[in-house]
Amino acid sequence: MYLVVGSGPAGVSCARALLAQGHKVSMLDVGLRLEPEREAQLATLRAAPAAEWNGPSGAFLREGMESGAGGIPVKLTYGSSYPYRDAPGTTRVEFTHAKAGPSHAVGGLSTVWGSAVMPYRQNDMAAWPIAAQDLAPAYEAIFRWMPLSARRDDLALQFPLYCDHPQPLAMSRQARQLLASLSKSKTRLQRAGVSFGASRIAVAANGFSGADACVLCGLCMYGCPYRLIYCTDRAVEELKSDPNFSYIPGVAVRSVEETGAAVTVWAIDAAGDSVTYRAERVYLAAGVYATTAILLRSMNRFDRPVRLFDSQYFLLPILRAAGAGKVTEEKLHTLAQLFLEIEDSRISPYTIHLQTYTYNDLFKAPVESALGPLRSVFPLNSFLGRLLLFQGYLHSDHSAQMEARLNRMDAGDVLRVSGVRNPATRATMKKLVRKLIALSPSTGSMPMFPLLQIGEPGRGYHTGGSFPMHAQPADGQSDIYGRPVGFCRVHAVDSTVFPSIAATTITLTAMANAYRIASQLHQYS
Ligand SMILES: Cc1cc2nc3c(=O)[nH]c(=O)nc-3n(C[C@H](O)[C@H](O)[C@H](O)COP(=O)(O)OP(=O)(O)OC[C@H]3O[C@@H](n4cnc5c(N)ncnc54)[C@H](O)[C@@H]3O)c2cc1C
Ligand code: SF4
Repeated sequence: MYLVVGSGPAGVSCARALLAQGHKVSMLDVGLRLEPEREAQLATLRAAPAAEWNGPSGAFLREGMESGAGGIPVKLTYGSSYPYRDAPGTTRVEFTHAKAGPSHAVGGLSTVWGSAVMPYRQNDMAAWPIAAQDLAPAYEAIFRWMPLSARRDDLALQFPLYCDHPQPLAMSRQARQLLASLSKSKTRLQRAGVSFGASRIAVAANGFSGADACVLCGLCMYGCPYRLIYCTDRAVEELKSDPNFSYIPGVAVRSVEETGAAVTVWAIDAAGDSVTYRAERVYLAAGVYATTAILLRSMNRFDRPVRLFDSQYFLLPILRAAGAGKVTEEKLHTLAQLFLEIEDSRISPYTIHLQTYTYNDLFKAPVESALGPLRSVFPLNSFLGRLLLFQGYLHSDHSAQMEARLNRMDAGDVLRVSGVRNPATRATMKKLVRKLIALSPSTGSMPMFPLLQIGEPGRGYHTGGSFPMHAQPADGQSDIYGRPVGFCRVHAVDSTVFPSIAATTITLTAMANAYRIASQLHQYS
C-alpha cells in the first residue's frame, strides 16, 4: 500500500498514476472544507437563475474580497478563508519580506487558484535533470481528466496543447480587440519574440454535467457557483469510487521514518492526538511549505536554512488606445483571457509569461480610490473600457528567492521564511517595460509603467526547489524520483523538488512531475 500526503494538484496526480498501475493508495490529508452554512448558500444560489447571482443572494460570494493597486491581498473563495487556515498538527509558517502561505484544504490551493496552465518549454528547464519530453506523457494524461479552456493557436508552436478536446470559453470584447491588434502586427511581434494566443485555463467551459455550462456571470474571482474552475477536491470525490483508493481527512503529517522495507508516518489527527501509519512508500504532496517542513523535521534539520526558488510575480496595468464600450454590463468570464509569451535574449534567456485580464469589478475600487474627489467628473466607464491588466511572471533565475528555517519552539515548530531580493529582477523588469512601450504602436496598448507592482517574494505562489532534483544528488537534493538524499521510500512529488521555476505557470508541471514519478515506480521499486 502506498500513502499520498495531500489532495492538491500534485497529490491527486500522483494518486491517479499509482491507481492506474493497479496499486492500493491511501491519501492522508488535513482536508479542511468550506463552512457548511456557506455550502448551503452556494447550493441555493446554484439552483437560482444565473441572472440573480450578482444580486443580494450572491452577495456572500464577495465577502472579505478587497482589491488595491497591488492586486487582491488575499484571494478568498465563496467568501471564505478556509483554504488558508491552520489545523491541529500543521506547521505555522511565518513570512518576513515575503508573502504566501500553505493550504490545508481538500484540493489545497486549487480551491483559489486562477487555473492558468501552460507546460514548461525545454529552454526554461535547463537546470532540470529530466527533459520536457519526459513530462509529455504526463501532461497528456492530466488533460484526460482535467478540463482545459484553450484554442489551437500560435502558442501551440512552442507550447504543445497536450489536449485533444479543449473547450474554449467565449472571449470578452476587450480581449477580442487586443487579439485583433496583436494579430494585425503578428509578423513584427514574432520578430520581436512575442507570441500570443487565447489563455489556457483549467475550466470546464461546457460544464461537468451538461446542464451547467459557463454562463459568463463574471464571478470567477469570487468562486464559480457551478464549480467550473477546476479544483482537485473534485478528483478526490471521483477517486473515492475506486476500490483501491481510500481518503483519510483530518490528518496532519508531521514526519516520516524509513524502517527496512516500510515507512512510518507520524501525524496528528483532528482531535490533536498522535496517530501513525505504515506503508511501502510515501509520496509527499503537501505543498512546498508543508512538504519542506515535514522533510526538515524528519531529517532532524532544525534551524538550518534551505533555499526556495520563486517565479517573480508582477502586475502591470495597460491602457488601450481604443476602448470597448459598456464593459461593466458585459457578460464575460474574469479569469485570464489571453497569454503573451516573450522570448528576447536581450531581456532574459527564458520565457517571460504575461496573462491578460480584461474588466472585472475588482478593477473599479482601486481606480476610484486613485481618483479621489475627481471621481464624479471622471469618465470612469470609458476608462475601464480601455484598462487591462498584465499579470506577469519571470523565470526563477531572475526572481527573488526565499530562505526557510524550521525552528523548534515550545509552542510548536515554526517554518520561518524570509525573502532574499535578486538585483536581476528590477533590471529585467526595466528592459521588459521598455520593450512593451516600444511595441505599443503594434499592440495598440500602452503600459502604465509608474503603476507597475513587483510582488513580494512568494506572492505569486509559484515557489519550490527546497530539495531540488539532480542527476547525482548531493546532501539537500533529491534524485529524479523526488527522493531526498537519505531516503529510499519517501518521495517529494510537489514543487519542493523543482530545480528551477519557469515563468509559464507552475501547477501543471507540478502535476505532470508528480504523475511522472508515480508512473515510473517500476524503475525504482
Ligand atoms: C490566489 C492563487 C492563485 C493561483 N493561480 C495559479 C494559476 O493560475 N496557475 C498556477 O499554475 N498556479 C496558481 N497558483 C498556485 C497553485 O495553486 C499551487 O501551485 C498548487 O495548488 C500547488 O499544488 P500542490 O498539490 O503542490 O499543493 P497544495 O495545492 O498546496 O495542496 C496541499 C495539500 O496538502 C495538504 N496538506 C498540507 N499540509 C499537510 C500535512 N502536514 N499533512 C497532510 N496533508 C497536508 C492540504 O490539505 C492540501 O490538500 C495560485 C495560487 C494562489 C494562492
Ligand atoms: S463566468 Fe466564471 S464564475 Fe461564471 S459560470 Fe463561467 S467560470 Fe463560472
